[in-house]
Amino acid sequence: MTVAATSSMVDWLRESEKKEYGNFINGEWVKSSSGKTFPIYNSAKNNQLLGMFQDSVENDVNQAVEAANEAFKSWSKLPGPDRGAILFRLADLLEKNVEELAYMLSAEQGKTLAESKGEVYRAAKEARFCGGEAFRIEGSTLPGERSNVWSSTIRKPIGVIAAIAPWNFPVVTPVRKIAPALAYGCTVVYKPASVTPWTSVKLMELLAEAGVPNGVVNLVVGSGSKVGDPLVNHPLVKGISFTGSSNLGLEINQKAAGRLAKTQLELGGKNPAVVLDYTDPAAVAKQIVSAAFAASGQRCTSISRVIVVKEKREEITEALLQEMMKIKVGSAWESGATMGPLINKRHLDSVQEYIKVGLEEGARLRFGGEVLTEGEFSEGAFMKPALLDLVTPEMRVAKEEIFGPVLCVIEVENKTEALEVANNVEYGLAASIFTDKVSSAYQFAEDVEAGMVHINHGTASAAHAPFGGVKQSGAGAFSIGSSNVEFFTDLKVIYFEY
Ligand code: NAP
Ligand code: MG
Repeated sequence: MTVAATSSMVDWLRESEKKEYGNFINGEWVKSSSGKTFPIYNSAKNNQLLGMFQDSVENDVNQAVEAANEAFKSWSKLPGPDRGAILFRLADLLEKNVEELAYMLSAEQGKTLAESKGEVYRAAKEARFCGGEAFRIEGSTLPGERSNVWSSTIRKPIGVIAAIAPWNFPVVTPVRKIAPALAYGCTVVYKPASVTPWTSVKLMELLAEAGVPNGVVNLVVGSGSKVGDPLVNHPLVKGISFTGSSNLGLEINQKAAGRLAKTQLELGGKNPAVVLDYTDPAAVAKQIVSAAFAASGQRCTSISRVIVVKEKREEITEALLQEMMKIKVGSAWESGATMGPLINKRHLDSVQEYIKVGLEEGARLRFGGEVLTEGEFSEGAFMKPALLDLVTPEMRVAKEEIFGPVLCVIEVENKTEALEVANNVEYGLAASIFTDKVSSAYQFAEDVEAGMVHINHGTASAAHAPFGGVKQSGAGAFSIGSSNVEFFTDLKVIYFEY
């Protein structure tokens, strides 16, 4: 597949061959032993087939895990700098293939082309950071208890990693798991979400082109029950890096604990933006709206609650409305579109149900929320972004993860109550505070229950800083950044006597 620089996404999709794609096991494209495949359609054009994918079963998982386990023997011995060099090549290849990857990503997932390109560039940055990490897998040296003894610590890769991803970031999520695994000397079996397997095929091609040896990264496509579960339970899998919903994360953690396999869990969120004071309401609204509605609100770090002090409530709500009116809903390829469809009709129904529940509980719909069905909108799961106000902290819309384009405004009396409300949920992923007072900012940063805090900044993370959550939003080492060493390696202490 090559992309002519001038061809548009629509032409490219029309002309691209509708193939059957295999699993990638031990460097070969293979069919599932189930003999079955399933179709994937364009998220914004439901009748356009993108390809057929393997409906894999436990036997395929076993083959992939065995290949990864065999490849671990040599990959783990390759010097870190050599592994890093391969990751630098991967980063370059991701950038070189940005256009094609973005077309595939937008087609399977629905996000706008600008968002898809941003995701690919972000994946390249993370791969590059991991490449650098492979050069600095550090240990320490300690004095001995006797004069002719000293000791040191080293880091050893743990073995085969199961990488399991959701559908909202099908390029950056696998890279976020595969790149650090490779940097630290682990091998991988990757299961994408079953609704977004297409870009993963391209990713396997790029990994091979970058020089990753056979068996080091394997792809098995299929459902959570038939692929995800046997992968999690496989005795040769030593670590599970899972991104997805909190309930499933808890289940996986229990299964892993039964054999002391390690877990790295990136789960749901109900992220607050606390607004206390500001000089420019429009600037605050811009930050919040962008963090709330990027990827149609289907981001674990989306802002979904604006917690604002009483005297600022109406002014900030007005500013949010002004900013939301600029959002243009449309297909990825439509020029000027800034918000794509939701992943599918089923998810759209669940988001609509939340709006209904919110209204029944006493919230008011200040903007949007309606399903769009006219013309081309009928071919995808499109809706207008929604703003609910008069939301109170006990409502379900204030506590549960909606994972869609719905923003709730909650009024509070003061700073103390703002912090209480911010913390009054089961989740603890990302949080923002908007204030010009240094003391309020520091107090909030210190006391909010979240893995990541943004001061006068939306909930957007960097490609080299640790990423993760607390409470029901995550467990295990934060992904991205140097914290990954804790998950992908074990510590070993070596004593020397001379
Ligand atoms: P999900 O339903 O939890 O699924 C995540 C992955 O787990 C999918 O690949 C799924 O496969 C697989 N799976 C399903 N059942 C399994 C089982 N029994 N054993 C092993 N794997 C299984 O999540 P989603 O609906 O795709 O994504 C939305 C959720 O992800 C939200 O809660 C969101 O907050 C969270 N998320 C968190 C982060 C973060 O970094 N904290 C980032 C993005 C998303 P199928 O696709 O075949 O069902
Ligand atoms: Mg799901």
